[in-house]
Amino acid sequence: MEIGRFGPGPASMVKARTGLVGWSQQRYAAGMLEHLKAKNRSWADRKVASDPGFFRRLERQQSPEYLWIGCSDSRVPANEIVDLDPGELFVHRNVGNLAPPQDANYLSVLQFAVDVLRVRHVMVVGHYGCGGVRAAVDGKRRGLVDHWLHPIREVYHDHRDELGGIVDERARLDRLCELNVVRQVRNVASDVFVQEAWSRGQPLSVHGWVYALGNGLVRDLDVTVSGPDDIERLF
Ligand SMILES: [Zn+2]
Repeated sequence: MEIGRFGPGPASMVKARTGLVGWSQQRYAAGMLEHLKAKNRSWADRKVASDPGFFRRLERQQSPEYLWIGCSDSRVPANEIVDLDPGELFVHRNVGNLAPPQDANYLSVLQFAVDVLRVRHVMVVGHYGCGGVRAAVDGKRRGLVDHWLHPIREVYHDHRDELGGIVDERARLDRLCELNVVRQVRNVASDVFVQEAWSRGQPLSVHGWVYALGNGLVRDLDVTVSGPDDIERLF
């Protein structure tokens, strides 16, 4: 996730550029998205042209085998990276691909995926060059997001000896991206919904991957957990 790139919102931009206010401003702002609606129509046309059954198939298909927990970063489009149809991957994204045990949004997604959809795999997918990971430890104040990123600072603190020994800043942050994924795998695998699934014999594995923006490839961190006994090696 890139942090700090957001400029003023559409309404304030319109006012600054045009001086329009009220209803005129709203109509102008709505018109700014016409190009996206046009792109949506041509995208749907192209999909049907290359695969006439695409949307009919998607309509029937909501039984994904996978839950993807990834970063909100726009450069990490989940189902595209693993070349799956949208219906084949249940997706949860937030800044820094976190799985915080107290976050109702993440927990609801996890419970729905495990108990209702009965996914077979949960992948926590970080990415090298993550702006959220960098922002967690660069010491700058940004507001609410600093609280959200706190778990990453905890990971940094827990591994400060190893990370402190990496001189190159980019390499150090990339290693922190990996360690953050491992911690989130541990969080998912320790969750009560996952533990209950295992205790009733439901097959479920939790994996940790890191995606490289530079070449489009994912790296398996080899921290897969497929049962309660596997978790110990992540501590
Ligand atoms: Zn990110």
